Amino acid sequence: MIDFEVFTLTFIFILGLAIGSFLNVLIDRWVSGESILGRSYCDYCKKKIAWYDLIPILSFFLLRGKTRCCHKRISFYYPLVEFITGLAFVLTWMYLPIHTTMLVRSLYLVVISLLIIIFFSDLKYQIITDESQILLFIVTLLIYLLLPLTWREIGALILASIAVTLPILGLFVVTKGKGMGFGDVKLALNMGFLLGLKGGLLAIYIAFVLGASVGIILLILQKKRLKSQIAFGPFLVMGVISMMFFGDRIWQLFSHLYK
Ligand SMILES: [Zn+2]
Repeated sequence: MIDFEVFTLTFIFILGLAIGSFLNVLIDRWVSGESILGRSYCDYCKKKIAWYDLIPILSFFLLRGKTRCCHKRISFYYPLVEFITGLAFVLTWMYLPIHTTMLVRSLYLVVISLLIIIFFSDLKYQIITDESQILLFIVTLLIYLLLPLTWREIGALILASIAVTLPILGLFVVTKGKGMGFGDVKLALNMGFLLGLKGGLLAIYIAFVLGASVGIILLILQKKRLKSQIAFGPFLVMGVISMMFFGDRIWQLFSHLYK
């Protein structure tokens, strides 16, 4: 007898691996502007890749990280995105309230997928694609309509998203777009809409703390110079994901720290 819960979570994990494989395509092709429907091909010699070399994670290790066609190194981002998507799907599934409908659950999996796309396209290419941002807004709105929230509540969330954007917009203006990209400004809008005023601001605060910590570590390790840039989008996404999964605990910690 296998536990139903374990069975479901295993299924969700494998689904996440498969979707992660598709997210890799979206990460690369939304940035390059290529059609997302064509078959996968080798990054180096452009040969089509056979289905048995596209099995999430497994193919990467069976091929020992080299392409079959031309024996070049396969980017480690590919299995990483697949694994993280699997993990994120399981976490999302577990953390959603038990009475959440199947449709809303699926839409939350789309939200988490879009956050993963934003994270990795900014990390790989320093670009947050508009496709991912617009879809994130629409899917969040759909979830609110299905929950359902009233239009008044949705209006309040839109106001919250504008308020959450102000500090990032301020930094964008002050640093003339060097410290922050406009993609970060648009992402802040989505953060406020997704998390509300307090949650959104706290997510931005977490992003700054994480960004500063990583920045200092990279400086100490001399991987980056003081003037070089690291994309800020991945930290914003980490802020969002921390609040989505551990929001309650983070609030508790905060109220203890700043009493
Ligand atoms: Zn090749």
